[in-house]
Amino acid sequence: MAQRWYGGGRLIANARPTNSGKRGAGMKKLNLKTEFRPPKTLKAPNADRHDKGQERLGTHVRRKRFGGKAFALEQNFALLAPVRTRLAKRDGVFNHNSFMQLYSIETGRFKLDGGAMFGVVPKTIWQKTNPADALNRIDMAMRCLLIAENDRLILIDAGLGHKYNDKFAEIYAVDHRHSTLKTSLAQAGFSPADVTDLVLTHLHFDHCGGATEIVNGKIELVFPNATIYLQKSHWETANHPNAREKASFFQDNILPLKERLVLIDGATQLFPFLRLEAVHGHSRGQQVALIQTEKYEILYAADLCPTYGHVPVNYVMGYDIEPLVSMEERARYMARAAEYGTIIFYEHDPYNECGTVRKNERGAFVSDQTFPLSELFS
Ligand SMILES: [Zn+2]
Repeated sequence: MAQRWYGGGRLIANARPTNSGKRGAGMKKLNLKTEFRPPKTLKAPNADRHDKGQERLGTHVRRKRFGGKAFALEQNFALLAPVRTRLAKRDGVFNHNSFMQLYSIETGRFKLDGGAMFGVVPKTIWQKTNPADALNRIDMAMRCLLIAENDRLILIDAGLGHKYNDKFAEIYAVDHRHSTLKTSLAQAGFSPADVTDLVLTHLHFDHCGGATEIVNGKIELVFPNATIYLQKSHWETANHPNAREKASFFQDNILPLKERLVLIDGATQLFPFLRLEAVHGHSRGQQVALIQTEKYEILYAADLCPTYGHVPVNYVMGYDIEPLVSMEERARYMARAAEYGTIIFYEHDPYNECGTVRKNERGAFVSDQTFPLSELFS
């Protein structure tokens, strides 16, 4: 494959091998404004659809500073097969051949009532893993996952964002001194415009609010170039909420997404390394993400298993619309995790980013090890 030089960093193969030596030759740059026709429903994943996405992004080259040297992510779409997490150091720059890197993106902290987070579980038990403050609230992270894979930059969830007033900030103890979506992205070396795909697990405010912001009094998308993926059934439920969930869905968080929205229907292999699956106990059409790296399977569990304290199947949130369904669904994923060593990424756990689970002597699922995401890639 042709090698090129780009701004001092060694680069870059064409997105697709072409006969001409010109970078980007053979690819059409699409005008997103006219070509994009949301919302639509993807029936099934297929190579075609994926190709179209790549074509759209084909001439986009992302550069960042790393160790003082500029480099860009290699565009090697012939690869669509084995995904590797290793970085190969070559000629003084990192050459990302079939590159995949995951970043934990903290977007701030907030608090929710501990009783609501653990449903019928007594406080004497849940406070061991999730200590409460004087108002009985527990600390909650809003931890997103960023996946850099060749020319794609995929963000899963977006935190609650900044469109709130003082009353809201007080009720939920919103803490953006801890972190914000944009500063965490910048720490990872990216800007919001770099994000090519945004997967929203669901539209409760603590998961999607960060996808929109107020600019000059108008609500705008934070990720102008990102296609947004959501389950079709969840879009319906968010637009026609039941009385119980109503307080979690804010129109300002939801309606502007329409512009870039792609609705998916059930389990979908969105990319070769990323599968989305719908679960319905917490909210109808919530989706969880299974990420396949070379070495690991990682489950972005969202509110299917928000903290490590929720690994036991019967520790169901009071918020869930169908607790028995939640239990059945969580049991299914925990069984998978215990069998395959799937690593669970905890979106809401302020103390533990990731963990594994095992079945104990009584046949119940319990947390095994916990560790930061960065440990997997060191
Ligand atoms: Zn949540």
